[in-house]
Amino acid sequence: MAREHPTVLVVEDEPAQREVLAYNLKAEGFDVETAEDGDEALLLVDEVKPDIVVLDWMLPGISGIEICRRLKTRPETQAIPILMLSARSEEVDKVRGLETGADDYVVKPYSVMELMARVRNQLRRVRPAAVGERLEYQDIVLNAETHRVTRHDKPLKLGPTEFRLLTTFMEKPGRVWSREQLLDRVWGRDIYVDSRTVDVHIGRLRKALCSHGGEDPLRTVRGAGYALG
Ligand code: CA
Repeated sequence: MAREHPTVLVVEDEPAQREVLAYNLKAEGFDVETAEDGDEALLLVDEVKPDIVVLDWMLPGISGIEICRRLKTRPETQAIPILMLSARSEEVDKVRGLETGADDYVVKPYSVMELMARVRNQLRRVRPAAVGERLEYQDIVLNAETHRVTRHDKPLKLGPTEFRLLTTFMEKPGRVWSREQLLDRVWGRDIYVDSRTVDVHIGRLRKALCSHGGEDPLRTVRGAGYALG
């Protein structure tokens, strides 16, 4: 499945709370995966590569704090925002949660609306287009809500794959993406696509971006992949 919708991993051992969270996050248009303990959570993080983790502090087995610490010390997972949930309201625990690397902290019982706002807030940072933000890079403007892209105020014609590729690049200008990472992000992990397919679509994207003139903003990084700028 292509990753147009951000994936939220909910780690919560209480079934009722897990269901309420999953239900509301799906209603917001997110893809949701759930785990009921720490071991399952760590497995799913590697398998699903979520865009954000909503993590309960008190879990059987590995605690939320420990999961948070592990995710924040591994290079491949440290950029994933973590929103901690806790019944503890003491300021000292809040500080401890944030010191472990959690990006935000919500005290139970929380209002679902507030939690959704916090999730969107974190996603705005890591997947701005996924929450409908307008992206700009030099003279290129991408509107994620209308799926329109312009360069120098002139509309560009992009296929759906090229649009997702450009969104990925524009969310992180300068970042070098390997073909594998692009396959994961743009095509999704369940679909088998040859890595040469990436090159084909990059070629189409380049052509579209330069269709009204202007320099090719995409950079091929030998042995590494592609980057915008
Ligand atoms: Ca719990």
